Amino acid sequence: MKRTGFILVVLLFCIKNSAQKKVAITIDDVPNSALYNSENFQHRLLDKIDSMHLPVTAFINEARIFSTDAISKNLSLFNDWIKDENVTVGNHGFNHAMYSSIGVDSFKTEVLKGETISKTLSKKYNKEEKYFRFPYNDLGKDSTQHIQAEAFLNKHHYIITPFTVHSEDWMITELYAYYKLHNMNADAKRIGDAFIKKTLEYFDYIESITSNKQGRDIQQIYLMHDVLLNADYIDILIAALKQKGYTFITLDEAMNDPIYQSHDYFMQQPGISWVYRWIKDDTERQALINRGPHVTEFEKELDSVKK
Ligand SMILES: [Zn+2]
Repeated sequence: MKRTGFILVVLLFCIKNSAQKKVAITIDDVPNSALYNSENFQHRLLDKIDSMHLPVTAFINEARIFSTDAISKNLSLFNDWIKDENVTVGNHGFNHAMYSSIGVDSFKTEVLKGETISKTLSKKYNKEEKYFRFPYNDLGKDSTQHIQAEAFLNKHHYIITPFTVHSEDWMITELYAYYKLHNMNADAKRIGDAFIKKTLEYFDYIESITSNKQGRDIQQIYLMHDVLLNADYIDILIAALKQKGYTFITLDEAMNDPIYQSHDYFMQQPGISWVYRWIKDDTERQALINRGPHVTEFEKELDSVKK
């Protein structure tokens, strides 16, 4: 009886482990040279990633290296990102231009110009740069643009990078930075805490859709940005996700999930989650988007402090 009990415990442990939730963390708009400038040329976000041994993929806009006067310092900090063993390198276009506005010819230039430094550095550190993420996740205004970009990226051996979960951190960080700049630390902390809570809500909601549709936990891909809010809160967010049962995997591992071979039915401009793009029916897709978490309270507060 004791032996049967022991086997049962081992079995349950194995089942629990095999059902563990997994997520790949991806970071867009690297490097944030404006933040380096205001923080005495440190990259706190990368330092935290490094100390947590957290696998991430950094999506790079090389134009940002040249967007402040301190180009050589920016280059050196950028080099640290590529060199770091936790970092997979991805292209996010040179200048973060919106594909549906600039058209396919300029898009091609953006992609190729966007790999100039990062591809050379990647080689130096025995890495590949094979992932591409569209700025604003804008894959084109119609099916023609979608197909044109896809053909070009395929030819250049790029994999289009999806995401499943995102919590509008690019906007919330503006509000957070406003309070920090004005030494309103209690408000900054309130926003930081609310951001963590909201991000977990997004995870819960997306998980509920995917487990409903797939009957299992899929390997999620979280999209965040190289911004002040994350430099301050990434360790808290990672701890909260661990608490929810998440382990952290590379983008390569996440992309092995067959869900990422699913058809993308969404041939319009807005940068919605792939979880919605896999839904064929427009009405069902829109209803799911509407029912999900929103960040209206942060938007309203940001508007009111800007006045
Ligand atoms: Zn971006």
